[in-house]
Amino acid sequence: MKVEAELLELKLKAPFGIAHGVSYSRQSVVFHLDDGLGEAALAPYYGVTPEAAISYMQSEAVLEVLSGDLSAPEHVLAALPDGPRPAMAAVDMAVHDLFGRALGMPLYRLWGLDPDRAPMSSLTIGLDDEDTIRRKVEEAEGWPILKVKLGSGDPEADVRTVRLVRELFDGGICVDANSAWPVDVAADVIPRLAEYDLMFVEQPIPWKGNVDGWHRLREALPPDMPPLIADESVHVAADIPPLAGAVDGINIKLAKCGGLREARRMIEVARTLGMSVMLGCMVESSVGITAAAHLAPMVDYLDLDGNLLVTNDPYRGARVEKGRLYMPDGPGLGVRPAGDEG
Ligand SMILES: [Mg+2]
Repeated sequence: MKVEAELLELKLKAPFGIAHGVSYSRQSVVFHLDDGLGEAALAPYYGVTPEAAISYMQSEAVLEVLSGDLSAPEHVLAALPDGPRPAMAAVDMAVHDLFGRALGMPLYRLWGLDPDRAPMSSLTIGLDDEDTIRRKVEEAEGWPILKVKLGSGDPEADVRTVRLVRELFDGGICVDANSAWPVDVAADVIPRLAEYDLMFVEQPIPWKGNVDGWHRLREALPPDMPPLIADESVHVAADIPPLAGAVDGINIKLAKCGGLREARRMIEVARTLGMSVMLGCMVESSVGITAAAHLAPMVDYLDLDGNLLVTNDPYRGARVEKGRLYMPDGPGLGVRPAGDEG
């Protein structure tokens, strides 16, 4: 068994601004397990360092689990020790990749999923000044859905941003405040944003220990608001039930939850509670994006544009063009190095 951790410095095409800060580049660690690949995308606001991710991947406890029978990934992954979620996700993806490769089939096929059933993906417009947002919306021509980042620090400016995008764009618009608004501000701003016909509002309020905040927000809002989607507030399946009745849906990301196995559990829990499911991503390479994309036919909303923001993605796999998802047909994840077109 060959194990390797590859640190990536992903350079962004343009500075990417969200309520947690502005990024010019992001780090990821790609985990190689023989021919299997997985990615730990390290969003700075979750505080996992490359060193912590690599030390998990190379720990004796993890290596011992991986020396088991990988033809039954469900059991192998259930035995993985707890650790930083992005690193667990990388290990989970690589095990799934090897499993699919051994059986000669793409994961979505092994799961009985039809990639043509995937919803259209949104394109993200980061926090920016008015002229830049105007230009980015114009460049997004042909995309069916835009996800607009809010939480600039000035709720009035956030409302103006949504009004501007709605003036320029006929398609679906969703917004993501990345935890920026206190509950009373969110309760005031969301009904005003609702006038611009939004698909949903993602993570309006602070996430840490804030189950109560979601329930207060729901009580404060009038009926018939756009659906509320929890992102930072929901990392793993156990986070979902306390939010029943307060949120309408959840945003699943492999780097948050620890991989495909936990993501599938989350989809089941959310469905059981009548919630909608969004599949999102971090800024990451085609390894992490492609792994997530195998689940796309199971969800309602797709936000898998993270690799499109990167100039030096060393891998190729799933790609989103004007919102439509195209899956590779190779076995396992179907990811290959850039430049290897075979
Ligand atoms: Mg989000």
